Amino acid sequence: MTELLYMTNSYLKEFDAKVIEVDGNRVVLDRTAFYPTGGGQPCDTGKLVCDGREFAVLSVKKESGKIWHELDRAGLAVGDQVHGVIDWDRRYKLMRMHTACHVLAAVLYKEAGAKITGNQLGLEKSRIDFNLEKFDREALAGYVERANQLLAQDRPVKIYFMDREEVLKDPELVKLASVLPPAIQRLRIVEIEGIDRQADGGTHVARTSEVGRIVLLGAENKGKSNRRVYFGLC
Ligand SMILES: [Zn+2]
Repeated sequence: MTELLYMTNSYLKEFDAKVIEVDGNRVVLDRTAFYPTGGGQPCDTGKLVCDGREFAVLSVKKESGKIWHELDRAGLAVGDQVHGVIDWDRRYKLMRMHTACHVLAAVLYKEAGAKITGNQLGLEKSRIDFNLEKFDREALAGYVERANQLLAQDRPVKIYFMDREEVLKDPELVKLASVLPPAIQRLRIVEIEGIDRQADGGTHVARTSEVGRIVLLGAENKGKSNRRVYFGLC
């Protein structure tokens, strides 16, 4: 099993690891700071260095519980020691986007009663899908402004783990726990102090001021009450 270093430290940019499985140009490591695509967050890219040889990490995927790093070529063997370096500019942008997404979604939920149905983070543009009967662009601009006020308050973003049983007793978290597979006994909670708390596997900034400001890039109707909003950061 791979130790997921990004789960406890989103700011880890480099790490040492050992190759434990190889399949052509793909490898599994005993530990990794590379985030695999999932939960609406794109994977990290970067490189693995072994004895002075550099292998570019093109993509990272989770497949039946294993984290596969797809490299630009084959050449690594089981037992090799590697030094991993993640592309920090890309990752940090996605961390800012991810925290922004939680804050905006929390405002949409609290102030408009919108139910969030999906999200996709991008480097320049992210989107949130939600259900809302009444859709008003002016109101939407107001929610974005409210989210920006909250971000500017420099709230801490805390990451901790809770047992499933504890989560099920928590009225705010229970909805999330009930949709997660029962096999998951320990849940990772991302709490943006005073704003949002949820079970989440993604990478986030440590304080909301690191996000900057949310810029509304567009909004679409995707059916009777399905809405989609696009945003960027500045
Ligand atoms: Zn999230």
